[in-house]
Amino acid sequence: MPPVDFSPLENAEFPAFEPGSVWLVGAGPGAPGLLTLLGYSALSRADVVVYDGLVNEAVLNWVRDGAVLEHAGKRGGRPSPHQADITLRLIALAREGKRVLRLKGGDPFVFGRGGEECQALAEAGVPFRIVPGISAGIGGLAYAGIPTTHRLTNHSVMFLTGHDSSGQVPSAVNWPQVATAAPVLVIYMALRKLPEIAATLLANGRAAEDLVAILSNASLPQQSVMETTLGALTDPEVSQDLPTPAIVVVGEVVRFRGEIEWYGPALRSSAMG
Ligand code: SAH
Repeated sequence: MPPVDFSPLENAEFPAFEPGSVWLVGAGPGAPGLLTLLGYSALSRADVVVYDGLVNEAVLNWVRDGAVLEHAGKRGGRPSPHQADITLRLIALAREGKRVLRLKGGDPFVFGRGGEECQALAEAGVPFRIVPGISAGIGGLAYAGIPTTHRLTNHSVMFLTGHDSSGQVPSAVNWPQVATAAPVLVIYMALRKLPEIAATLLANGRAAEDLVAILSNASLPQQSVMETTLGALTDPEVSQDLPTPAIVVVGEVVRFRGEIEWYGPALRSSAMG
């Protein structure tokens, strides 16, 4: 048999990346191989890449020679630029006629402010496109051996954020409803407020024995997973030293990890994820 010629990008018909437009691209949870092919092709065509702190910088090796890289996240202890400044920057670059790639961790439209950036671009009359990515709340779970749904445990899942724009546990969340609304809760940005969130969920009817997994650096070589229970989490010591970024999974589905866990040191030696 002749060797298989696997060059998926050569024949793919990707949309044109027009000068003066902005593409919001999801980089996935961390492992470089989890970027979509459209995202990969966009990286190789962009003039400027404006990337967030959570983006694995390994994917920036895929930009073309001469492309400009701009970091728009926290770095070296300096505060992150304000959202409004980032948005103005995107608009200015597009108006200079650049192909602007806005690279965000996970999926740009899942707790990533992608919606806000698109609203501003639309208002400014700048053409844009969204390239979805694998969100940490799905891809990260896969790397921890936790199916987001499983017929034996849950027919629904709820994604929520552990803090709002002021850094507090979001008061806009209807906790009495949320606590028992879905058998599985996937909580982004939860680590700092975890004792408070756990106590709130318990006070609103969630069981203390409910299983919890805290996934740090999911899909990256330094991935670590801590398993505990909701009741135990009210003690700040249980979660305070865990590495970030971290995502929290609450629910019976966590127990499948015992059987399905697959991402170990042997597999991690593969650089592409
Ligand atoms: N748009 C992103 C989420 C941005 S909010 C997405 O779709 O994944 C940032 C939060 O995402 C972090 O606080 C953490 O809760 C989660 N997160 C992102 N990458 C992660 C990773 N590799 N491991 C664990 N959590 C991650």
